[in-house]
Amino acid sequence: MAMEFCTLVSGSSGNCTYMGTKHTKILVDVGVSGKKIESGLAELSVQGSEIDGIFITHEHLDHIKGAGVFSRRYNVPIYATFDTWRAMEDTLGKIAPDNRRYVYPEENCILNDLCIQPFSIPHDAAEPVGFSVFGAGRKITVATDLGCVTDTIKEHIADSQILLLEANHDVDMLKNGPYPWHLKQRVLSDVGHLSNMNAGGLLAEVMSGKMEHVLLGHLSAENNEPALAYHTVERVLACSKIQVGKHIHMEMANRNFNGRKIEI
Ligand SMILES: [Zn+2]
Ligand SMILES: [Zn+2]
Repeated sequence: MAMEFCTLVSGSSGNCTYMGTKHTKILVDVGVSGKKIESGLAELSVQGSEIDGIFITHEHLDHIKGAGVFSRRYNVPIYATFDTWRAMEDTLGKIAPDNRRYVYPEENCILNDLCIQPFSIPHDAAEPVGFSVFGAGRKITVATDLGCVTDTIKEHIADSQILLLEANHDVDMLKNGPYPWHLKQRVLSDVGHLSNMNAGGLLAEVMSGKMEHVLLGHLSAENNEPALAYHTVERVLACSKIQVGKHIHMEMANRNFNGRKIEI
């Protein structure tokens, strides 16, 4: 095993992704309780104390809810951009000065044998980022909470062996659904969330022979269904002659439980 990857939870109700090598293990976002994360890690035979760093994409509660507790319990450093720190520190509670670490978009952050590269994403948060993680000659990218597709996003997603990509909503379900008007506008805006259709379009554009596994995640509970997201993306890819199952493995990240552990 060179690198392993597993989503612990993924959805508008909470996000946490585990990945690592034999030597270095990290979490991207801790948006559910510390207890829930512990049980997800236990299923992977990973102890909380083995986590070397928590990387936060942005300050929304579905990404930071359990981060403070987890950091305190296991003395784990939290890495985030400057403005994300400012926006989330009241919610996190007291974090030991030594566990307060900064990352900067497009600047590599070296953590043992991992190199973590944050990149800017358009989303209605203070200084939101996605992360590409390089280790053992592999590249894994987490890209959720994307209001729209940018060249920066395309560049960072390209050539990832594993990609966790947002497929947040079906546009018709959202438009006809229960959300109040202002919330619908927010989700649909350029700093909101990525639709199933746009997730498919983005994938079709960046697809290369190097990409092996795509996980669709951060689904809206009200405005999407896993099967709908999967088939919409599958259809968009088929228009570009990309066959799911043949050219790329695609699966859904689970909202409440560990997804499948992938080793590359
Ligand atoms: Zn968000
Ligand atoms: Zn989110």
